[in-house]
Amino acid sequence: MIIVIRAHATSEQIDQVLREVEILGYTPAPIHGVNQTVVAAIGDERTHANLESLTALPQVESVLRVQKRHKLVSRESHPEDSVVNVGGVLIGGGNFCVMAGPCSVENEEQLFSTAAAVKAAGATILRGGAYKPRTSPYEFQGLGKEGLRLLAAARDQTGLKIVTEVLSERDVEHVAGVADILQIGARNAQNFQLLIEAAKSGKPILLKRGMSEKIEEWLLAAEYILAHGNPNVLLCERGIRTFETYTRNTLDLAAVAIAKNESHLPVIVDPSQGCGRADLVVAMCCGAIAVGADGLIIEVHPKPAEAMSDGQQQVDFAMFEKLRAAITPYLKAAGKTL
Ligand code: PEP
Ligand code: MN
Repeated sequence: MIIVIRAHATSEQIDQVLREVEILGYTPAPIHGVNQTVVAAIGDERTHANLESLTALPQVESVLRVQKRHKLVSRESHPEDSVVNVGGVLIGGGNFCVMAGPCSVENEEQLFSTAAAVKAAGATILRGGAYKPRTSPYEFQGLGKEGLRLLAAARDQTGLKIVTEVLSERDVEHVAGVADILQIGARNAQNFQLLIEAAKSGKPILLKRGMSEKIEEWLLAAEYILAHGNPNVLLCERGIRTFETYTRNTLDLAAVAIAKNESHLPVIVDPSQGCGRADLVVAMCCGAIAVGADGLIIEVHPKPAEAMSDGQQQVDFAMFEKLRAAITPYLKAAGKTL
């Protein structure tokens, strides 16, 4: 860390900073400029105390961090792309993956017909919420265990892998009993106890970015999962909340490019929650591939107008079929295979 001392600080004040830096476990190396002094604090920021508290001293102007706070997820620690293996379906490092299915599991007919349609159009992973985080407590909250049973049956019938959300620590065990990938939703993106329990299940984890989460916080949440022994994390950009009203959220494709630079983890894009509009899904999928995404998660429903959740953003089977043709040249250009 670098500590910037205010101009006109006395030598006693500078010595006090050097002493404090030593007490906090670093070796201080002062650099005296013409007007101002800076102190380089030498030591590992990840294992030593955070020196930001030194700004409590009146002679300290600012404290700057040199090292990144995320280590295991960073490209520095692992330069190659990570490949996550979901029961034989590979994601990352040139392997592109399409996850698709309804926002919520509603009934057998809806789920099974959607599973067959998305499989025929190239998806290898079936999405569907059995536990739904809804803004209002009076809205459909999902079928719970019955939804999980239907997802398992759809997997048996189609061979598709299953991604489904786990909402609480209490549910990790039984959701992990069915899911091939545990989805951590935007509303739980920094629920660290849930992240730790999900990590311990050993299942791959699709970690959504929180609605107001900075990229660094998203990476640090992923770091929690890796630090608890589970390297199989898929980062998922699903839009952030902005002032815009044409879209439900603002799909942050710059964050995808940044996450790909900063981290070796695969990055998945969710254009459905990302824009909240079915008519934008195809364009956003093409954009996602162009900026480096390793996969997509898309909401598909047999009759979006009748959906029990997120109807406005779910595409029907015909549109999902068209999506495949639309993304093919982008995948080719990116050197990725579906
Ligand atoms: C969903 O995938 O249906 C969902 C609720 O996602 P998010 O957590 O991104 O809002
Ligand atoms: Mn949804």
